[in-house]
Amino acid sequence: MKHILAFFLFLLSLASLSAQEHYIYCGNLIDVKSGEVLSSKTIIVKNDVIHSVEDGFIKVPSKAKLIDLRTSTVLPGLFDMHVHLESETSKDNYIKPFTMNEADVAFEAQAHAKTTLMAGFTSVRDLGGSGVNTSLRNAINKGLVVGPTVYSAGKAIATTGGHADPTNGYKADLMGNPGPEDGVINGVDEARQAVRQRYKNGADVIKITATGGVLSVAKSGQNPQFFEDEIRAIVETANDYGMITAAHAHGDEGMQRAIRAGIKTIEHGTLMSEETMELMKEYDTYYVPTITAGKSVAELAEIEGYYPALVVPKAKAIGPKIQSTFEKAYKKGVNIAFGTDAGVFKHGNNAKEFGYMVEVGMPAMEAIQSATIIPAQLLKVEASYGSIDKGKMADIIAVKANPLEDISTMTEVIFVMKHGKVVKR
Ligand SMILES: [Zn+2]
Repeated sequence: MKHILAFFLFLLSLASLSAQEHYIYCGNLIDVKSGEVLSSKTIIVKNDVIHSVEDGFIKVPSKAKLIDLRTSTVLPGLFDMHVHLESETSKDNYIKPFTMNEADVAFEAQAHAKTTLMAGFTSVRDLGGSGVNTSLRNAINKGLVVGPTVYSAGKAIATTGGHADPTNGYKADLMGNPGPEDGVINGVDEARQAVRQRYKNGADVIKITATGGVLSVAKSGQNPQFFEDEIRAIVETANDYGMITAAHAHGDEGMQRAIRAGIKTIEHGTLMSEETMELMKEYDTYYVPTITAGKSVAELAEIEGYYPALVVPKAKAIGPKIQSTFEKAYKKGVNIAFGTDAGVFKHGNNAKEFGYMVEVGMPAMEAIQSATIIPAQLLKVEASYGSIDKGKMADIIAVKANPLEDISTMTEVIFVMKHGKVVKR
């Protein structure tokens, strides 16, 4: 028995030594760099890397595998710049902090990661959880868990009573006094400490909650919750470590403080004024709209008892506004990066966002670029990700139809390859 096992392991090691080659025949191929749809191409993938992109359908050598997508449209793997893999909306979400152990969270998170990858999202920025999100990233990178490449914020940073204060709404003896390690800061010193703690914990990016939020048990969904010097301290510290910064913001004042302090992406941006849109252009800030989350919370708030009483009016007021804010911001020329807040709605439905973007005037190609080449540039990984080009990692997906003619096809991903491995066919 022992010998058989050893022989089997030996065979496995041989298989991993010999190069895996895939020839992918593409009916259409979306070139996100030129913004063109190319037809009849062959992508040659060796191991985890795109070796070349050839004209026509190249004869497949006997040792290579053919993936025939001649009736489909092939695109680079998608990025979602705003997800929460640790959790997913449910009626009992607010008691889960008291009922779930860290291991329970981890098992749920790995299921959400797989669902996300199967929907064509080969990279995600996880903008806040407990720290399990960072462990999940490591497990995926080691090949222990199936999921997208994760850029993790670890635990988001708030101020006391702010949107990401983990003890909001608890009774006093459970509230305690969370500090920078738990992502709650007051003042410049604690702001720096919280970023350095996240660096130590292995986070890739930094997320703050610059204003009130919809789903926290607190009165306002839009008040400013940081002073500008606190945000500036966070951004400057994060920049030292090469971490990009994201700010959750619904209210205009908090948004303006975040932009002036140098935050790179504004999440939700619900009540963004025209003045703030101009400010975003001036500071080269990106807008991550999360329209899907807005629509979803507004719908769920109609279900009796789904959210706590304090949350319901905020969800109804703020949720439906995001799409029109996105429309105005896009038309004003604000930079857009695709992000959904998946977790606030069911994981795997991320691609619905494309339809909402296109519905109010963004051309389909630009929507696709906002989910491929643009996030790769923002995360400073465009040398290896974000387009189908020679030398880049083989993160490749396919949809049935041409999304430029029918954007809803993005919600029906039929093929996913991540790092040269076929994970959905
Ligand atoms: Zn979020």
